[in-house]
Amino acid sequence: MDKKRRNFLKIAGISTLAGLGATTGLGRLVGGAQSAVAATEEAATAEHGNAIEQNAGDTPCVNRYGMLIDVRKFREDLSLGERVVRACHLEHNVPNIPVKKDEIKWIWMTHYENAFPEQPHLYLDQTNVEFQLPILCNHCDNPPCVRVCPTKATFRDANGVVIMDFHRCIGCRFCMAACPYGSRSFNWSDPRPFLDDATMNKDFPTRTRGVVEKCNFCTERTRLGLQPACVEACGDTKAIVFGNLNDPDSEIRQMLKQHHTVQRNPSLGTFPSVFYIV
Ligand code: SF4
Ligand code: SF4
Ligand code: SF4
Repeated sequence: MDKKRRNFLKIAGISTLAGLGATTGLGRLVGGAQSAVAATEEAATAEHGNAIEQNAGDTPCVNRYGMLIDVRKFREDLSLGERVVRACHLEHNVPNIPVKKDEIKWIWMTHYENAFPEQPHLYLDQTNVEFQLPILCNHCDNPPCVRVCPTKATFRDANGVVIMDFHRCIGCRFCMAACPYGSRSFNWSDPRPFLDDATMNKDFPTRTRGVVEKCNFCTERTRLGLQPACVEACGDTKAIVFGNLNDPDSEIRQMLKQHHTVQRNPSLGTFPSVFYIV
């Protein structure tokens, strides 16, 4: 395992447990969660020939859902970013909280240097300096957030999707400290007053104060045979392609074969299931 990855896993474990464990009075859980971090490290130590093929999570997954985001399409049509964010947040009753530090985000637009901090350099091309691209939970194949969750409120389903049971979340925020991508948001206050009754999706649960939330790869839609809301919002542009990475015949696998793609912070050993054509 390279030094950077080892350091990340240690920092994720130790800072999460020391910082949050102390403040939330969950010290008794620290021992168990530390073992979980050690297990993460062990899993990441295993040899992985191909970042797509490997599956280092502790739940054997039948499928491994993934996403391919074609950033070029977001540059061609500047309205696309707003459309995908809006589609996701309406679908999942994500509150529109105006105070930046309390924001709840499932998918959002950001600059290249924030999305790919391992790659920027002084002479980055103007296109990547100017434009933004969408980021969301990576549904990592080796997810540190799952390892540290003391209540199993965060877990992987049979499709390799990292999802949450909001009812089991005790708000300890171990998962937020463990996630190196900032993909999770915490409800510091009751989010319901920030939802618009007129646009609320009555079929999706709202959350409460003290609960963490994030992108769920639209499991409520995919189990009905629908595409994720953000994919649907892209129309037929193929700006986002969603599918099963374990199926060599799937569209996403075909596209991955044809294009050079990158993942976010690959050196951390989390094996993101979200890929980008930049
Ligand atoms: S991106 Fe963060 S929240 Fe999502 S699976 Fe990976 S570690 Fe967990
Ligand atoms: S999902 Fe909830 S219970 Fe699990 S680590 Fe995150 S905050 Fe804690
Ligand atoms: S997959 Fe679904 S939950 Fe995730 S960002 Fe897209 S619309 Fe939101």
